[in-house]
Amino acid sequence: MRRCTSCFRFHPGSPTFCSYCGRSFDVRICSRGHRNPRGAQYCSECGSADLSTPAPPASFLHHLSGFVLYLLSGLTIALTVITAVLAVLHSIDWTALAPSLVPLVLMVGFLYWTTTLLPGPVKKVGKAAGRQVMKSIKKDKHR
Ligand SMILES: [Zn+2]
Ligand SMILES: [Zn+2]
Repeated sequence: MRRCTSCFRFHPGSPTFCSYCGRSFDVRICSRGHRNPRGAQYCSECGSADLSTPAPPASFLHHLSGFVLYLLSGLTIALTVITAVLAVLHSIDWTALAPSLVPLVLMVGFLYWTTTLLPGPVKKVGKAAGRQVMKSIKKDKHR
């Protein structure tokens, strides 16, 4: 994710140019695609003076606004979840549900715990095994 410091729009991935205002991100790029520092007047590779206009350097305000946006989106999600949970908590008859809910929560928690415990190689082996199973199933279909 990249944010243009000129037009303040977000871009997925790490593009070379802003697709809204056409500025390059923190570099000056010549017509042949060579990357130069933002202070360059001529391309250091081919000497071309035809360099792209870089977006202005990221200011403290830019970082701050990005942080605030991040914080606000996080807060919105947290608030939605909290209100949803509160609404559910208020509408549920806990004495009737608790006996069946507790093991369910424990099971989900345990499953989550096991997935975090699994080291990378084990997951890979699991994936490979899954692929083998899929292959054998496909072979059976062809027969
Ligand atoms: Zn832009
Ligand atoms: Zn060049």
